[in-house]
Amino acid sequence: MKAKAAVFLGAGRPFELREFPLSEVEPGAILVKVRMSTICGSDLHSWQGKRKVPLPIILGHEIVGEIEEIGEGVNRDVLGNRLVKGDRITWTIMANCGRCYYCRMKGLPQKCLNLFKYGHESCQHPPYLNGGLAEYIYLKPGTGIFKIPEELSDEEITPINCALATVVNGLETIEIQPEDNVVVQGAGMLGINAVALLRERGAGKIISLDKDQQRLELAEKFGADEIINVSQKEPAEIISLIKDLTGGYGADVVIEVSGVPSVIPQGIEMLRIGGRYLLIGTVFPQANFTLDGYLITTKMITIKGVHNYETRHLGEGLGFVARTHNKYHFSGLVTHRFNLQEVDQAFAVASNRQAIRVAIVP
Ligand SMILES: [Zn+2]
Ligand SMILES: [Zn+2]
Repeated sequence: MKAKAAVFLGAGRPFELREFPLSEVEPGAILVKVRMSTICGSDLHSWQGKRKVPLPIILGHEIVGEIEEIGEGVNRDVLGNRLVKGDRITWTIMANCGRCYYCRMKGLPQKCLNLFKYGHESCQHPPYLNGGLAEYIYLKPGTGIFKIPEELSDEEITPINCALATVVNGLETIEIQPEDNVVVQGAGMLGINAVALLRERGAGKIISLDKDQQRLELAEKFGADEIINVSQKEPAEIISLIKDLTGGYGADVVIEVSGVPSVIPQGIEMLRIGGRYLLIGTVFPQANFTLDGYLITTKMITIKGVHNYETRHLGEGLGFVARTHNKYHFSGLVTHRFNLQEVDQAFAVASNRQAIRVAIVP
């Protein structure tokens, strides 16, 4: 049996539709029939040549699929649900070894010394099918599997194993407290998820910033108290507006999910004394910015970075969508659908900021 995949050969080149043989399923592994993939910001960065990926590659790591074949020893998901052929599942963006320094000693499985990340590795060697833009994907042992509750749609679930799970980790890392006033810089998929999570966690004032009015209006629907279109204001004006909205002190927390390094110094100026700053969006090299160390010291600022997440954060994200999907229109964030033959067009649409998430349905 063979499976089709859209193979990426480098920035500026069209995707190539290739066929790969389906590998035999080893113990601990699962062969999955892909139902839907969504194009993440980092897929776009790879497509644009902003970050280096091993070529040839099958991109796509936000994926939902159904079990085609289960390897020996895989009976249950992370939460203990029984797994059988045909079950819809989502899974961690990575397979990790569970034995190395970062897995065992430091609680950073996403930095495993033997890390395997879906949609981030070359497809040159068996089992070939390791990204979402394909008919099938082979899940290696060490991947955290979650069965998807029946009432949730593919659109609601597909983006959670990158965007939402990362934000769950971010809010835990920056230790959001009830009544914290929070500024979210960026109203793309991560920013909108962050706003909804903050709302449900009992944050104080949630202020969403973006240059796109449509995205800001979505952020409002997902729980933002205030939206500010940064394209219509000077940086100094925005900073003083944030101060006004937070009792004159500044925000307790600012979260950067825009992927625009130049907004980071402004974000730090929006903080109150003792405030916390979280970087999530700068997932490509040369994301440089200049900071005044005097400001960090005298304002006693904490700065943290978060990249990907642990298995439990995905479980928490799944639970969050299951609890709140009648309140927030998650499926509306997947705005376009294409098939495997139309991947070039899909990336073109995703790179124009009209779309929040573009889906590929093989
Ligand atoms: Zn991603
Ligand atoms: Zn490891």
